[in-house]
Amino acid sequence: MIKRWIKKLLWVPYESSCRRLPLWPLKTTLTYPVDGVVCIRIDNVPTRILSRFSGGYDYAVSYLIDETLMVDTGFPWARRQLKRTLIELNATETISQVVNTHYHEDHTGNNDLLVEMTGAKILAHAIALPEIRFPVELPWYRRFLFGPYVPVDVHPIGDVVTTSQYRFEVHHMPGHCPGHVCLFEPDQRWLFSGDLYIAADLDSQLGDANGPEWIESLDRAIELRPRCLFDAHGTVIVDEESVATFLRRKREFLSKIRDRVFEFATSAQTIQELTRKVFDRRRFVDYLSLDDGWLSLITGSDFSRGNIVKSFLRDAKREA
Ligand SMILES: [Zn+2]
Repeated sequence: MIKRWIKKLLWVPYESSCRRLPLWPLKTTLTYPVDGVVCIRIDNVPTRILSRFSGGYDYAVSYLIDETLMVDTGFPWARRQLKRTLIELNATETISQVVNTHYHEDHTGNNDLLVEMTGAKILAHAIALPEIRFPVELPWYRRFLFGPYVPVDVHPIGDVVTTSQYRFEVHHMPGHCPGHVCLFEPDQRWLFSGDLYIAADLDSQLGDANGPEWIESLDRAIELRPRCLFDAHGTVIVDEESVATFLRRKREFLSKIRDRVFEFATSAQTIQELTRKVFDRRRFVDYLSLDDGWLSLITGSDFSRGNIVKSFLRDAKREA
């Protein structure tokens, strides 16, 4: 009852004002990293602050490829800015396919806008379809940060996605979450990597992360020897050696966590103790968050170090 009144009195006016002024000011940046690819970044104040704290990556990053294929659609508060950008790019007439690399709301948040403006077909991995089509209710801070999500129809992606100039292989690379895909163009050796990378040393994850699968996916991505990496939070790398270095750094970070989980799995008595031993950090925020990281503090443990530790622990138990 109280919850319903709070929603009526506070949340409904907040949401409707955000539709007009989506946590203003918003900033849109367009870059053209290689011929045929436009990178669209849209930030507002909260996501900019959040990204500065968590390693400098961006939110609401989408890629427009060959004028016809869009990869990820950003978070719902970015809607007005994305609409304006697509009109400026004359893309409303040309986009015919949209790929969601995975089901998180900062990658699928404007699917409805794309369908409305372009009539494009939305594609995602079969495992991700139920989450995109019938999303669970988000914790309040994610609705506050990213906005309310309006689901639309989404179709299973095949093994290949083609545009007039390019042919992308679809690789299922779970780990960040189930049903996460990367697109690889073998002639150009472009990898549109979704959230496979994000930042090398991001220690706090959602509960749907799976460390062992993430390491496997990174191994497969490294084997593809991509020349360019297009990350869904804005890291764009356009030389082969640097791409390999970035992917390996991420792999090393995760495999170090795995090794330490295996090392302390039997001696630690609780997940909290195990997480403390695995990360072995002694900063103020570590004491404050009971060793679960600062993201855990501000997200009510939705993002936490414990989540990634647990995913490795399941593996350690299986191997034991
Ligand atoms: Zn994600």
